[in-house]
Amino acid sequence: MNGPSYDITVIGAGSVGNPAAMFLAQRGLKVLVLEKNTAPGQGENKAAIGGVRATHSDPAKISLCLRSIDHFSTFRDAYGLDIGWKEGGYCFPVFDEDIESMLRGLLPTQHHYGLDIDWHDAEAIKEIVPGINEKNLRGGTYSPGDGQVSPLMFADACWKVATQHGAVYRFDETVVDIIVRSGRVVGVNTDKGSYSAGAVLNTAGAEARRIGEMTDLDVPVQPDSHEAGISAPIKLFLDPLIVDLRPGREGKTANFYFGQNSEGQIIFCYTPRDLFVGENIESTSEFLPIIARRIIDLIPALQHLLIRRVWRGLYPMTPDGVPIIDRANEIEGMYLGVGMCGQGFMLGPGAAECLAALIAEGEPTIPPEVFSELSFKRDFYHARGEGLM
Ligand SMILES: Cc1cc2nc3c(=O)[nH]c(=O)nc-3n(C[C@H](O)[C@H](O)[C@H](O)COP(=O)(O)OP(=O)(O)OC[C@H]3O[C@@H](n4cnc5c(N)ncnc54)[C@H](O)[C@@H]3O)c2cc1C
Repeated sequence: MNGPSYDITVIGAGSVGNPAAMFLAQRGLKVLVLEKNTAPGQGENKAAIGGVRATHSDPAKISLCLRSIDHFSTFRDAYGLDIGWKEGGYCFPVFDEDIESMLRGLLPTQHHYGLDIDWHDAEAIKEIVPGINEKNLRGGTYSPGDGQVSPLMFADACWKVATQHGAVYRFDETVVDIIVRSGRVVGVNTDKGSYSAGAVLNTAGAEARRIGEMTDLDVPVQPDSHEAGISAPIKLFLDPLIVDLRPGREGKTANFYFGQNSEGQIIFCYTPRDLFVGENIESTSEFLPIIARRIIDLIPALQHLLIRRVWRGLYPMTPDGVPIIDRANEIEGMYLGVGMCGQGFMLGPGAAECLAALIAEGEPTIPPEVFSELSFKRDFYHARGEGLM
């Protein structure tokens, strides 16, 4: 390894690696980021629709996302950079009894972890979601502190702040090997060169398992693919992101979600009932007709929307749907920030800050009993309680 030497090499400038580089550089570490794409945030980060909520069922996700929201909502004041933050909350409107009892059942845990979320009756939900179809509407939950961010603007902003603090980014450069000597990480090889590194952070998203294999670590991340789309802008009328947890009558969708971003565009996505496991990101012809029907059924006035484009990207899934944020004890200096599933953008800054603290100070930012849920060594097949997507 004749190349320059760094305290830490971050693999991937995505939803997690990019803010991690920022927090690590702010802590005074010498940081190298290696990214195979030609700009930050061009992996799965740019597939995200930018929904940001702390309203989860899982204490670790709640804790990390509360920190993320702190960072997103203050980013402009802290650094003078616009990231498209829109605080409009999340609303889960409810039309059937089972979903009502599931969502109401989560409220005590959510309140325990400090979330501003409550159950509202149908009249209140009609105010929160103008034009919502009232048929069978029972009410719903609303968490006003959640919001939306532009994933591309945030990627660019993080990269700027990280480089101002001395982080070095090398784009269009693919990590091909990690060098381990006497049980500890000493460097990485790329398709362009070699670098010495005291530590390596695997934030390679959907490719995390391949990076793990370079040091014989079995990192249980398996991607599956999801589609999204965006409309031309319309007059701002919708504050929250809407999540409809009902399975679709068409038999193809498990749930769907959409919102209006700070530019006025409607941005939307669904969870397929039968997951498409693998790395195929070709758009399908069935996505748009199916989601259009579901959105129009929920807010009929949206039938006149003009759709600009659709795309398909990957959720980097773990078997239990919870990320891995940990050190790999088998190899000194090896860290993991992977398996972000369908929430990696909203988890990004919170997870990144937790990793930066773990790497630089040896302690995570969240309590040990919560942090242990994110362990690399947990039982990934242990059944968890009923959770939100
Ligand atoms: C349709 C859709 C909608 C979504 N909506 C949301 C949402 O609203 N909110 C939300 O929170 N999440 C959402 N997500 C999920 C979110 O996009 C992901 O969870 C998140 O981007 C994963 O972050 P990551 O940092 O793990 O991966 P990425 O952002 O993909 O970053 C990994 C990076 O590593 C790089 N890399 C990989 N291998 C190598 C290598 N060998 N050498 C160098 N670089 C490498 C990649 O190029 C990539 O840039 C959505 C996903 C999809 C598909």
